[in-house]
Amino acid sequence: MKTLNFDTIAIREGYQTTAEQEHSEAIFMTSSFVFDSAEQAAKRFSKEEPGNIYARFTNPTVGAFERKLAALEGAQACVATSSGMAAIFATLMALLKSGDHIVASRDMFGTTTVMLNSIVAKFNIDISYVDLSDLSAWESSINDKTKLFLLETPSNPLGQVVDITALSKISKAHDILLAVDNCILTPALQNPIALGADIVIHSATKYIDGQGRCLAGAVLGTEDIMEQVHGFVRATGPSLSAFNAWIVLKGLDTLSLRMKAHSDNAMKLATWLEQQESIEKTHYLGLESHPHHQLAKSQQSGFGGIVSFEVKGGRKAAFKLINATEIFSITANLGDTKSTITHPFSTTHGRLTDEEKSMTNISEGLVRLSIGLEDVNDLIADINKGL
Ligand SMILES: *Cc1c(COP(=O)(O)O)cnc(C)c1O
Repeated sequence: MKTLNFDTIAIREGYQTTAEQEHSEAIFMTSSFVFDSAEQAAKRFSKEEPGNIYARFTNPTVGAFERKLAALEGAQACVATSSGMAAIFATLMALLKSGDHIVASRDMFGTTTVMLNSIVAKFNIDISYVDLSDLSAWESSINDKTKLFLLETPSNPLGQVVDITALSKISKAHDILLAVDNCILTPALQNPIALGADIVIHSATKYIDGQGRCLAGAVLGTEDIMEQVHGFVRATGPSLSAFNAWIVLKGLDTLSLRMKAHSDNAMKLATWLEQQESIEKTHYLGLESHPHHQLAKSQQSGFGGIVSFEVKGGRKAAFKLINATEIFSITANLGDTKSTITHPFSTTHGRLTDEEKSMTNISEGLVRLSIGLEDVNDLIADINKGL
């Protein structure tokens, strides 16, 4: 290009025209892809020839993340999104229409409930709420417009669990899609599709990245369902960026090691908490005292990193304990290498009415921990300071 002028050289020189490196972890930081010819462009757009067109549709780095996560979840296909909320919204908007009805667990991530009540409901989609583990409540909420069941298991912060296999028998018998937000356990500890779920949703922001670096999300299921979800993402734009896809792709490499370490630390800390006199109750699925311990054991391969407990003395005692910690980060985030501590009543669940709080058993003395990968003895000593 030596005979060209400066501005042309500045823009056109230096590129290596390699084939797209689908098997490497190259980050394709590009908005669009260039075609060899007008004929190839036409074929790509008409889907006669598969390949990348524009990063809102597909990107090789994003594709690598989608294929790896699909393999880990045992799903036919995966659509990555810019966040976990985008994954939930894309699922609902792609698969539902005005007049449909869904049944949702009462005990979900706060913003999910806000999205259902303040946005999804505006589109004339009816929502019934049920107790997560109450199979007969799910079944009796079904009407002839019911299209989807939406839930998280285990729930956060109390670790309620539903029998996914039993619930999937109910959903299948009524031609209803079962969608499970698997963010708290990840495919390293639970595979909802193998248990009968149709759709798995992730906030990859949490354990899949695992190091608090970016937002990302994903939806997984059959080719047919994912084509509809992809159509929504392609047409409305909550696509995952190549850079963030690379971060969560690298996160998947160490996911199972990290989930095991989070679970081991959480088990040790919960066991210690349960022995403390100033603690009323400890909620951790790994403890035999948890009412859903046996069910969790039968469908999960670990109990995860979320532990919560009620201190004697209500909000005052809870705040004192939280403020006395020096290692734990006081934040509502979870799924990080760093341990975090939060008071659900006044933060994550603060928007619920008092009645809703008591229905979900969020008391003023409840403290939630997301157990990170620090030495557990240091974490125990840190909690002990405020007891
Ligand atoms: C954080 C979270 C979400 C939302 O994910 P973002 O990536 O923050 O949008 C959804 N579900 C669960 C269970 C979560 O913990």
